[in-house]
Amino acid sequence: MLDYRRFKEINDLFAAGQPEKARHLLMELQSRCIALRDEMERLRGQIRTLEDILYLSKNLSRENGFYWLQTPGVRQGPFCPQCYDTVGALIRLEKTDHALCCPYCGQRHALPHPADIRPGNGGMARIIPFIR
Ligand SMILES: [Zn+2]
Repeated sequence: MLDYRRFKEINDLFAAGQPEKARHLLMELQSRCIALRDEMERLRGQIRTLEDILYLSKNLSRENGFYWLQTPGVRQGPFCPQCYDTVGALIRLEKTDHALCCPYCGQRHALPHPADIRPGNGGMARIIPFIR
């Protein structure tokens, strides 16, 4: 924490005709300000990380072996369970002809049965057959 009385001391030293002592004290305060700013940036980073963790704990769910993220109005996913469980990364699975494939770890998953897919998810299209 900054001791704001030091600014008055600096002012008093200048007023007393002791500019070298005042300058030295000013440099100490500058160094302390830089250290505080660095600490503040580190703490802001921790807050962002904790906010992300809190958001994921509220909005990430695991269904049918895949992770899904509920965002405002849209359900995102499916995300790779291997990548999230091992390194905490949300990697969206890509649909190939007969499987879902992770572009990061390469793990392949069988496509979920259409009955297991909850309506309204953003990642999988719902197939509606034409009526003849
Ligand atoms: Zn993966």
